[in-house]
Amino acid sequence: MRETTDILISGGGVAGLTAACALGAAGFRVICVDPTPPVTEGEAEGADLRTTAFLQPSIPVLEAAGLWSRLEPHAAALQVMRIIDAGGPEPEARLTKEFDATDISDAPFGWNLPNWLLRREMVARLAELPNVSFRPGTGFARMLAREAEALVTLTDGRQIATKLVIGADGRSSPVREAIGIAAKTIRYGQKALAFAVAHDLPHRNVSTEVHRKGGPFTLVPLPDREGKPASAVVWMETGPEIARLAALPVPAFEAEMTTRSSGILGPLKLLTRRSVWPIISQIADRMSGPRTVLMAEAAHVVPPIGAQGLNMSLADLAVLLDLAERHREDPGARAVTEAFHRARHLEVQARVTGIDILNRASMAETPMLRDLRARGLEALYSTRPVRQVLMRAGLGVR
Ligand SMILES: Cc1cc2nc3c(=O)[nH]c(=O)nc-3n(C[C@H](O)[C@H](O)[C@H](O)COP(=O)(O)OP(=O)(O)OC[C@H]3O[C@@H](n4cnc5c(N)ncnc54)[C@H](O)[C@@H]3O)c2cc1C
Repeated sequence: MRETTDILISGGGVAGLTAACALGAAGFRVICVDPTPPVTEGEAEGADLRTTAFLQPSIPVLEAAGLWSRLEPHAAALQVMRIIDAGGPEPEARLTKEFDATDISDAPFGWNLPNWLLRREMVARLAELPNVSFRPGTGFARMLAREAEALVTLTDGRQIATKLVIGADGRSSPVREAIGIAAKTIRYGQKALAFAVAHDLPHRNVSTEVHRKGGPFTLVPLPDREGKPASAVVWMETGPEIARLAALPVPAFEAEMTTRSSGILGPLKLLTRRSVWPIISQIADRMSGPRTVLMAEAAHVVPPIGAQGLNMSLADLAVLLDLAERHREDPGARAVTEAFHRARHLEVQARVTGIDILNRASMAETPMLRDLRARGLEALYSTRPVRQVLMRAGLGVR
């Protein structure tokens, strides 16, 4: 027999799980499917060792989803964003600029949490919502959009009639493919290593991007580990360089990463394994189709600079939640899917373009380009109103 639901979410990554919590808490009947069950322990094989810095505007969405009270106790606050240019002949900090959250608000810029812990808390929250059915191990196979509903076939052969399909199924989104929406991709020949470190000097809730070549080396505060200050690291470089770094014996790797960090937190000690992530920019030509919306990496992928990726996804969710609540009787109506595309696509395009420019500047190899980058940073930073506009734009608040 065919099942019916209000909303079917394809993808149980961090974005899809948050959407399931938020739309479930709003009272919709939700089914969320994902062929890969979530890994909810940090030590387990396949655990996502990245962290997510949730910026201020993402917090109301997490509150609406009933998630923030679960996440806050595990989060490290980010009070200052520091940008260091270490592009001179030696890998030393030659220019340091600090953006302090107190310049624009009473609250920190954001809060940082490990992705595996997000999944653990999100799955626990879903268990509290009787109107949400989370089905790990089953995927989206195909769909047929009709006037009054969409008919989705799952990988186990079941059919589900739903008013709205949400594609939150990642950068190769099967939903995007099924509705024939193309995406433009920029490849940089770049990868990222993500891992956690301990250090002797306290981070003082300062998040730091160190720019030299190959992309930024970013340290984001974590709560203390075993009584020592700890940070999450994302280290971007060319593909071959990342392969070399990932294969280095731990002592040699620790020495290289301490040098690459310009020594700002003292010697860095590796706490986890090193996970490798490919870096691209990508944007879907449209963010909706008949009875369908695309969100998160199914719609947009950016290099991890300025903690934009998942925060853009939660901005997608905030818009969708609002539209769905205003069309409770039919959350997949054309009025919803069209308004969602109009509200998000230009904004997403602007962010993908902006982050692409920042990433190219950070990759600069030649001394001339690196000097130009340092001068640009100096100029942007020097006037307080420009600095405040930049900080607000980074957060996504106006
Ligand atoms: C190194 C690194 C650091 C980052 N740091 C930050 C940060 O600090 N702040 C920030 O905001 N963002 C950050 N990001 C970006 C952020 O991690 C991503 O935006 C986010 O994890 C992507 O989530 P997603 O749910 O869209 O995609 P995914 O996590 O890829 O989830 C997609 C899901 O869809 C599932 N799927 C695939 N096929 C099917 C199918 N047929 N049916 C159903 N489901 C399917 C997959 O199994 C997967 O679970 C970072 C990214 C990287 C690479």
